[in-house]
Amino acid sequence: MAVTVVGSVAFDALETPFGRRDRILGGAATHFALGASFFTDVRVVGVVGDDFGAEEFAVFQSRGINVDDVERIAGEKSFFWAGRYDNDMQVAHTLDTQLNVFAGFDPVLSSRARGSRVTFLANIQPDLQRRVREQCTGAVVTGLDSMNYWIESARDSLLETIGCVDVVSLNDTEVRMLTGQPNLARAARQICALGPRVLVVKQGSYGACMFTQSGFFFVPGYPLETVVDPTGAGDSFAGGFFGYLDAHLDERELTDEMLRRAAVYGSVIASFAIEAFGSERLQRLTLPEIEGRFSEFKQMTHFEAQPLLVRATED
Ligand code: AMP
Repeated sequence: MAVTVVGSVAFDALETPFGRRDRILGGAATHFALGASFFTDVRVVGVVGDDFGAEEFAVFQSRGINVDDVERIAGEKSFFWAGRYDNDMQVAHTLDTQLNVFAGFDPVLSSRARGSRVTFLANIQPDLQRRVREQCTGAVVTGLDSMNYWIESARDSLLETIGCVDVVSLNDTEVRMLTGQPNLARAARQICALGPRVLVVKQGSYGACMFTQSGFFFVPGYPLETVVDPTGAGDSFAGGFFGYLDAHLDERELTDEMLRRAAVYGSVIASFAIEAFGSERLQRLTLPEIEGRFSEFKQMTHFEAQPLLVRATED
């Protein structure tokens, strides 16, 4: 039982209306791994430079995350991303991207990573995602995330990669951009026709909706009064989602009930992630907090059906 995530492990510089951080631990694989670590064993496949030190590795170790497949390249720098959020806190404006060691990233997975039951291909070049997917011979469930940059610059490759995974996780703007279809239900049908069994459409603070072969589910965003930094919300959602699936995949079947609980845990984890900068909140998150908020989601989304009082009509 383990989840393998392949993606960026980085330093981020972040600016939001609540403050700034010039250099903190970031990266899609980092946010995913921290989120998933509450549910199952996690292995990270990535690359860092020698600026990535004991302090950064300690964050992974403190959550029991395996970093044997994170290559550390001497004399080079880690991936660096700088982003800014304005008052709406919905859109990440990229200020700077320095690929550094990530430019030559083309991992050969260890046998342990290949054997994971669940593999998540975080936001990286789609050809690379496909090369990793081909190595994951033990995977029962595979998922991917992507971004506008790849939709615009490598659309055909991304479409091909989507055909090789079970679960696609994109935000609503990306879904519309990828399909050219403004209607989400139709866009979802187009994406699932390529092969995936599940499409998760992230909708920022509104939550996420999920299209499966047999149905539709919607999970709201938690109504937080203060959102400090949305960075990593999507990746930590995916961490909660795939971490939960891995821990509960006894029958090797993805049932709608299991997928719904996974989506709620995804939204729970993402709601904590955005309460502080970068991964700071996930680093001190506890299981009782997760279970408490999961119960709140259940209560928040529950309603009783009652017979409809029909207006009397004259004949
Ligand atoms: P999210 O907010 O979930 O979309 O992801 C935020 C994380 O993605 C940040 O911590 C960044 O380090 C990382 N990131 C930003 N741009 C890229 C990119 N082009 N490729 C891979 N990772 C990226």
